Amino acid sequence: MATPNPAPMYQLQQIPGEGRGLIARRNMTRGQRILAESPLFTFPNIEDTMPIRQIIGPKVQALNGEQRRTFFGLFNNFRYFGTTGSIGTIKTNALRVDHETDAVFPTFSLTNHSCLSNASYSWDGNIMKGTLHTIRDISAGDEITIAYGDHRRGSAGRFVCLCPLCTTDNRAGLARSDRRREEMSILEEQIWRWDGPPREPEDVFRLCHDLQVLMLEEYSSTPSPALAEVYEFAAGIAAANSDAGRDCCAIKMGVFSEAYL
Ligand SMILES: [Zn+2]
Repeated sequence: MATPNPAPMYQLQQIPGEGRGLIARRNMTRGQRILAESPLFTFPNIEDTMPIRQIIGPKVQALNGEQRRTFFGLFNNFRYFGTTGSIGTIKTNALRVDHETDAVFPTFSLTNHSCLSNASYSWDGNIMKGTLHTIRDISAGDEITIAYGDHRRGSAGRFVCLCPLCTTDNRAGLARSDRRREEMSILEEQIWRWDGPPREPEDVFRLCHDLQVLMLEEYSSTPSPALAEVYEFAAGIAAANSDAGRDCCAIKMGVFSEAYL
């Protein structure tokens, strides 16, 4: 006898001010998988200079009727700027597959943003699907949210964010959060996009450590792919410099973080 599909852990619901969103149907603990989903289609990473229309047009044409209805039912945040149709929908909903590829998904694209999200999207190359995991405990009735883009609050003003952090009355706490997020962005620039002369491993470790401390403070010790990336990077530096002890430590920290992803 075929095993019945388990009931989804979420339901789609209208969220005031945000369109549709995912609401938890049950209590979930940190690290649980909420969803694994195939993309509607994939395409090369979006750059402003690329001929998006020529790339996306055939992809949309190849969708079946139901998939096309799903795609055009997704939110287009760029229609206010005159970008209508599939281009605006793509720009609003694209999620990263890898450093060369983006994708649009039927359900992930409905997951709203929070600067203090309780879930995380990532691509699982083993099953060739996008996955959504909890990064905090979630109670039934809570909205399931992910963080778009970088650490900047409200995803750098690309939309009005209604998350608990952006709507708090604690102005002093918000100012501290903004400073931390700014420092995190600067540190990430210095770690990932350094194009100066070679640096001493100690200097890079110090930057990774500072970033780790800020992330743990800002996100209440919630593991995330961004934190796992810091650990992985530190482990790579240690390995490249034959520092077995520190390498082992960094890898353990990375495994600890990724265990929740
Ligand atoms: Zn926010």
